[in-house]
Amino acid sequence: MDKMCTSCGVHVMAKNNFVEFECPECENKLIRCRMCKESSVNYKCSECDFMGP
Ligand SMILES: [Zn+2]
Ligand SMILES: [Zn+2]
Repeated sequence: MDKMCTSCGVHVMAKNNFVEFECPECENKLIRCRMCKESSVNYKCSECDFMGP
C-alpha cells in the first residue's frame, strides 16, 4: 500500500524520511514527511477533519 504524506501528498519512499502518528481525535494513522514536520506544515485528518500543526 502506498504511503503518502498527509500534509503535502508526496509519496513516502524511505522509512527515515517520514513519521507515522495517530490522529489525536480518532486514532487514524497519519503520515508526515520530514520536511513537513520540520516546517510544521498543518495536516488534516482524512477521517475526522481534525487539523493540527
Ligand atoms: Zn510532506
Ligand atoms: Zn482523525
